[in-house]
Amino acid sequence: MQKYDLTILGGGPGGYVAAIRAAQLGAKVALIEKDKLGGTCLNRGCIPTKALIAATSLYAKMLKAENFGITAEKVAINFKKVIERKNTVVDKLVKGLRFLIEKNGIEIIEGTGKVLGPGKVEVDIVDSPSTSLGASSKLLVVSRKLILATGSSPASLPGISFDKKDFLTSDDLLEYSPVPEKLNIVGGGVIGLHFAQIFSALGSEITIYEALPEILPGIDEEVVEAVKRILKRRKVTVLTGTRFDPAKSTGKTLISVGRTPNLQGIEGLGMRNEGKGIWVNEKMETSVPGIYAVGDLVSKKMLAHVAYEQGYIAAENALGKNKTFSYENIPFGIYTDPEIGSVGMTEKEAREKHGEVKIGKFPFAALGIAAAMGEVEGFVKVISGENGKLLGIHILGAEATSLIGCATLALKNGLKVEQLAETFQAHPTYPEGIQEAAQASLKRSLHSIN
Ligand code: FAD
Repeated sequence: MQKYDLTILGGGPGGYVAAIRAAQLGAKVALIEKDKLGGTCLNRGCIPTKALIAATSLYAKMLKAENFGITAEKVAINFKKVIERKNTVVDKLVKGLRFLIEKNGIEIIEGTGKVLGPGKVEVDIVDSPSTSLGASSKLLVVSRKLILATGSSPASLPGISFDKKDFLTSDDLLEYSPVPEKLNIVGGGVIGLHFAQIFSALGSEITIYEALPEILPGIDEEVVEAVKRILKRRKVTVLTGTRFDPAKSTGKTLISVGRTPNLQGIEGLGMRNEGKGIWVNEKMETSVPGIYAVGDLVSKKMLAHVAYEQGYIAAENALGKNKTFSYENIPFGIYTDPEIGSVGMTEKEAREKHGEVKIGKFPFAALGIAAAMGEVEGFVKVISGENGKLLGIHILGAEATSLIGCATLALKNGLKVEQLAETFQAHPTYPEGIQEAAQASLKRSLHSIN
């Protein structure tokens, strides 16, 4: 039996951040992971998809090299090598993460955990030389508090089973197999669009099926319209309000219709559920005293940075602090071409909640840096309320996923549109677009017609 102050089940973004924060606060911490440290995000999500997008967007850019006065002949992409590079990037980060966790004095227990009750986890130990806990295949881990961070797995549709051949998960598409001639993508959310981006650049014929009236739920309506126009130009077919019929399909099919929280190992505790996941209050406490839950297991927004923040808060609260989590002003980035960055309310939400709102827009085509870089597609949109309070900022354009950081800082701190308009940015840079859009809200944009 091993005794700790805090046990964490799951070593993804929610779990490992909770472990590190708890160790920083002086706790003796056990982190149980059955697979690879870093979870979905590092091994099968955020990082591998971006490593692939880095390659396909460089390839797409090289095909347009002539526009920059560069002759690049025989440009070709080798998908096998692209996947190998992705694996190298992931392996390096996983190793770095293990080093970080160990340096923080956290005990990593490699195995599958089953929660027996508050503070009690039975672990089926993975037979690994790096486990310092002896040969026993079952281990009882006892602690004062417990944080559950078991994440989520790809969801399927009735009548479809994943076979790694015709019906694929996002995990499958991150492993090497020849680029499909035809790829159906079922689900027009963020994950579906990431893969549409990757495989359309590789030459697959893509059809996106979305049962809802619109793709990209939660994204500003004007941004979605612009993205659909761009996809059409790239010959990606988007069928909204359309259910995918497997009987009528040919080619490979990615099912990206959402993710299901991983409840294995934590059932039987009588915890209150919410939707398909575990219910928590704003302190990340479950309905069972002494047990916290974070990340995709509970989240209404399945994002790595939400899991990070929730893990941090749960660790602090488990060790006696009193922190709360809010879903307000969570930024997100989508790596389409061009990228999308979004924080706060969409225009529709803002109008529903606040009635009269001010909209300021600035096109990338009017931005000096965008012209110089050959990235003139897209716009910045700033939404503010009657008293000038910023309500939402949405960006479609180059570097939008990074630019949204500056917008998030403004929204999180309750800034007014006037303050954003008066924050001068370096020239020539993309953040000037945010300033100009804020200025446009006040009818004083300097580089576009108000
Ligand atoms: P996970 O990362 O799923 O980690 C859970 C861990 O728990 C896993 O390692 C699992 O092995 C372990 N585990 C489960 N059960 C047990 C058990 N019983 N015993 C021991 N260990 C257990 N988010 C973003 O913010 N940005 C992005 O760009 C982005 N891109 C994505 C792209 C794809 C293709 C996918 C699939 C996801 C993407 N996400 C992105 C979402 C992000 O990956 C998740 O929100 C994040 O990983 C959730 O973290 P988590 O810690 O809750 O769970």
